Amino acid sequence: MRTLTGRELAASLRAEVAALVEAGPQPRLAVVVATADEASLWYVRSIAKAAAGVGITCDLVDLGPDAEPERIRQTLARLSADDTVHGVMLQTPLPAGASLQDLAGAIDPAKDVDGANPLSLGRLAAGLPAFAPATAAAVLALLDHYGVELSGARAVVVGRSTVVGKPLAHLLLDRHATVTVCHSRTRDLAAVTSTAEVLVAAVGRAGLIGAEHVAPGAVVIDVGTNPTEDGRLVGDVDFDAVAGRAAALTPVPGGVGPVTTALLLSHTARAAGLR
Ligand code: NAP
Repeated sequence: MRTLTGRELAASLRAEVAALVEAGPQPRLAVVVATADEASLWYVRSIAKAAAGVGITCDLVDLGPDAEPERIRQTLARLSADDTVHGVMLQTPLPAGASLQDLAGAIDPAKDVDGANPLSLGRLAAGLPAFAPATAAAVLALLDHYGVELSGARAVVVGRSTVVGKPLAHLLLDRHATVTVCHSRTRDLAAVTSTAEVLVAAVGRAGLIGAEHVAPGAVVIDVGTNPTEDGRLVGDVDFDAVAGRAAALTPVPGGVGPVTTALLLSHTARAAGLR
């Protein structure tokens, strides 16, 4: 079985962005945060560090975990109207009563580098140019990087969130895959997933996908990131069980994650007009 790591692709994407930034004006990414969730804050700091590494300025706009939805909305609108800011992102989780889908409508679609504005998803569904959520785009980028043929392939996506599953289904459809989307009400998950030539797990449940869910020779992409009690991070796929069956599998960590961050920076460079 082949392990589809994301680090090499992420490094080449970052190098491409760094070269663009060196030749043009410095892009600026603003990440709005309204949470005290440690994992989330760690992720945001890792975005800032990666941005600095390619010459992108990253402003962390921390509104605190008790921020009112209206204050978050106004902040997103202000950053969207600011000509010195090229990319705007709203980090989840959000305070109780605040919804990403609702608030992200305040992000200018031209600066919506993580594809959170419902307009971006609508444009994606209509086959129009839009920023896809970086995670969904990262799955496609990994499949392309490893030369996985999508046209005519049976693809199954487990998870239908607006940040991963739904946009990914549209991206796969655009590439002429035959796409099935599963979710928590899907009957006999294994019967559906085991028909997949390309299987993507984006659920958030450690070990949900076992050997019985995977067809021999399938390519499996694990988007899930689940913290364990002993401080590790594991995916939705039981790596050891599936390794004996799949042709290829992404690791967690080190698979989709690094490519997601690199694509966020790539989208920011594009939003700044550098490509
Ligand atoms: P989410 O909004 O909670 O959505 C989870 C989806 O999984 C839902 O559609 C849910 O179905 C479905 N589901 C739940 N239990 C299921 C089951 N037993 N069988 C089949 N489907 C089931 O999560 P998300 O934001 O999409 O994130 C999914 C995972 O990806 C999480 O682990 C998250 O941490 C990870 N993630 C990773 C990255 C990265 O860069 N690597 C980025 C973003 C997210 P219903 O719709 O029916 O509830």
